Amino acid sequence: MKKGTKSAALALAAVMMTAVLTACGSKADTAGSNTVTDTTVGGSQAENTDADVTPENGGTLTFGTNAEFPPFEFVVASGVIDQYDGIDIAIAKKIAEKNGMTAAIENMEFPSLLVALENGQIDAAIAGMTITDERKEEADFSIPYYTATQVMIVKEDSDIASATDMADKKICVIEGYTGEVCVKDLGYQYVAFKKGTDAIMELVNGKCDVVVIDSATAQKYVGDNEGLKIVEDASAFESEEYAIAVKKGNTELLDKINKSIEELLDDGTVADLGAMYTEAVSVE
Ligand code: GLN
Repeated sequence: MKKGTKSAALALAAVMMTAVLTACGSKADTAGSNTVTDTTVGGSQAENTDADVTPENGGTLTFGTNAEFPPFEFVVASGVIDQYDGIDIAIAKKIAEKNGMTAAIENMEFPSLLVALENGQIDAAIAGMTITDERKEEADFSIPYYTATQVMIVKEDSDIASATDMADKKICVIEGYTGEVCVKDLGYQYVAFKKGTDAIMELVNGKCDVVVIDSATAQKYVGDNEGLKIVEDASAFESEEYAIAVKKGNTELLDKINKSIEELLDDGTVADLGAMYTEAVSVE
């Protein structure tokens, strides 16, 4: 695999500290390790050499996701787990394996994930989910494994150059994503779609002027569709941290997940997966 130069643009970071997050994320101290090596991640499973992790032989760890968020989760003919593939799906599989379990995926709408945790339908949610104060009321979050930010996708000839330029434009967001919260907080009107691809179609067809969505997913959409570009505005959109959510109070599972994430960050697996899936979905 080639060096993942694009991963730097994704601000892939092994963020080990938690931060107090506002609705639109927080200026988490940008963590360093953007170093992505040539390591092949696909073939080798990380070994669990730690006796502290109790193997629950044959147990299934059910992760909920919303497989509409490439490169983190998307549907393919044959993925890492069933028809699901992406950075998060690969991480989910490795976490389960490290704990002697098998990972299963339940695909659902993004706003349903925390409800599904609460009612026990899933054990954990892995969905490029940003830690927010509101969500922390409903679920417990792992240590972060990825840093992102909201960006604006516009047509190449758009005059939108900053978030304030959206004021009189037709803005599209995805329902329940932090992008919706950010646009709402900015005080702008918007239209919310259930899927990122639907919002992008509106943009491509000229029915909306700008889509606000997470950075890595934006890169994927811009790579897949002619005539689009990304506009960043760090003063309007602060950094966000992705983490895995578990049911409130499930410290046993959270501890296991945290330990696994820590290992996957430390040994470069998360960075490698980021590079691999970013390259795989990029156009050039
Ligand atoms: N990071 C965004 C959020 O947490 C989008 C997540 C997603 O669509 N999977 O709201």
